[in-house]
Amino acid sequence: MKVLKGKPVCGGVAEGKLFYLKRGENKVSRVRVDDAGHEHSRMRAAREKALSELAALYDKALPEVGEQGAMIFEIHQMMVEDEDYCESIENIINTQSVNAEHAVSVTGENFAKMFSEMEDPYMRERAADVRDVSNRLINCLAGGQGISGPVKPAIIAADDLTPSETVQLDKEKILAFATSGGSTNSHTAILARTMGIPAIIGLGEDLAAELHGACAVVDGNTGELYIEPDEKALAALRGKKRQADEHKALLEEYKGKPNVTLDGREVLLYSNIGNPSELGLVLQNDSGGIGLFRSEFIFLESDGFPTEEKQFQIYKTVAQTMAGKRVVFRTLDIGADKQIGYLRGLRLCIERPDIFKTQLRALLRASSFGKAAIMFPMVSSAWEIEAARAALEEAKAELSSEGILYDAGIEFGIMIETPAAALISDTLAPLVDFFSVGTNDLTQYTLAVDRQNSKTERYCDTHHEAVLQLIELSAKNAHKHGKWIGICGELAADLSLTEQFLRMDIDELSVSPAKTLELRRLIRELDLTAPVAETAAK
Ligand code: PEP
Ligand code: MG
Repeated sequence: MKVLKGKPVCGGVAEGKLFYLKRGENKVSRVRVDDAGHEHSRMRAAREKALSELAALYDKALPEVGEQGAMIFEIHQMMVEDEDYCESIENIINTQSVNAEHAVSVTGENFAKMFSEMEDPYMRERAADVRDVSNRLINCLAGGQGISGPVKPAIIAADDLTPSETVQLDKEKILAFATSGGSTNSHTAILARTMGIPAIIGLGEDLAAELHGACAVVDGNTGELYIEPDEKALAALRGKKRQADEHKALLEEYKGKPNVTLDGREVLLYSNIGNPSELGLVLQNDSGGIGLFRSEFIFLESDGFPTEEKQFQIYKTVAQTMAGKRVVFRTLDIGADKQIGYLRGLRLCIERPDIFKTQLRALLRASSFGKAAIMFPMVSSAWEIEAARAALEEAKAELSSEGILYDAGIEFGIMIETPAAALISDTLAPLVDFFSVGTNDLTQYTLAVDRQNSKTERYCDTHHEAVLQLIELSAKNAHKHGKWIGICGELAADLSLTEQFLRMDIDELSVSPAKTLELRRLIRELDLTAPVAETAAK
């Protein structure tokens, strides 16, 4: 057994034979020609052929990956006709008296190099698209038929895959993708995710053509590729696959259904994420919104504090992608479990108004692109909320004076994750639009069990009556003042507590995207008018 490790880009487990993708051999030679006019007319014909192939690929991709995913083939069409690109090919043919294939190959490499040196990561990734377009043109010049995929379903292996290769392959014959190169946000990765096919990229050179025909298992959740797995690994992977299949079945049955109990109580079911790359999962699992966007990961992944513009772009992507569904952006919460060992949550922001203001401006600017809400973590006193409110108003005033748009009615909420906040929730509720209970911290601070210290684990009773009472008290006080309350800590996904939470009148549960449908299934089976069941009462 051999295990190769790469980057997971689409979850799921697939078992099958590796099919190392054979491409139409397009070795380009430099040939001297006397008749440049002939090369130009070959070029025109190749361009026409490439354009019609790309139009056909767009039509094929549209029902499989939607408009957004298929758009890449429109971009490729534009590249084929790009003026600078065409002019460079013509010039090389004219000035060097060479064949069209060579002119395309040189131009493609020059353009790809130019893209790969750009600062913007999105533009850098377009280098692969230019190469894809150039290969297509060379293939058209050679009258080639493109790639040949497997006859039977297999795991597609390759050094890298272009978007057109990905779409060209017969979907029925693809069990998974595994590539030695590639990047997480390449269009191929995006297409694989949209098609829901397990995929791993960046497996390195060990994924070689000699492996063609080997038995393998792709674990798209961990990014591991098992080659000729032994019995033990195979049994474990098959167990995982069963689970994944069950989830898929859940998806098919519960997608699009409302989260309503048998007696008609509707619950908001949202997702927790920390990175825009998880948006696909949010949409795939039919989540109603984002109940917790942990913004600190943007800070932890940056060298130095991210600029307003960088943050704005990320928040805007999230708000726009969610298309009018609520997104609760939590302001910076580093500290404790998140590396930096000083103040946490709102406290850090109060101490560092410069960092806080930058984030608030970025969030407000993004609010005009969707339905955003701002949430402040680690609150324990009313004055902190007033300080946060003042900072928000200041940021709003600045943007107004600069003529920058934002949602003036953006919701303002806090996390209830200290016992103090829960106990004085009657005082705090009038100051905010909503509460969201962070049970992870609420548990650690109520039970005095350090989240990061494994030795305290036996003292950490996640169902402890003290924690549940604090949640119930917060819910009562939120509703007393006409505010909504959600839970976004891990406890929100604990199915043994769902009924109890709904009986406390919790309005929203925010969980990791993959948990959404299980929770929906349970909610739809509950009857809150029935006598309290034994298990729920505990
Ligand atoms: C929590 O404390 O429950 C919470 C949701 O926030 P985090 O886990 O990011 O501290
Ligand atoms: Mg917390």
